Amino acid sequence: MSIDPKILAVLACPECHASLEEINSELLCVKCPLAYPIQDGIPVLLIDQARKR
Ligand SMILES: [Zn+2]
Repeated sequence: MSIDPKILAVLACPECHASLEEINSELLCVKCPLAYPIQDGIPVLLIDQARKR
């Protein structure tokens, strides 16, 4: 299940406030090395839930 592009457009990385892109059911920050999970279609924008890529 993918994130609505209109919602994705207003989301920002909580670490660096850059924009995010959805790749393989994760939200990847375009600026820093964090990737946030999407659980049941809901982006989990928590730094302690993110993984470093
Ligand atoms: Zn970031």
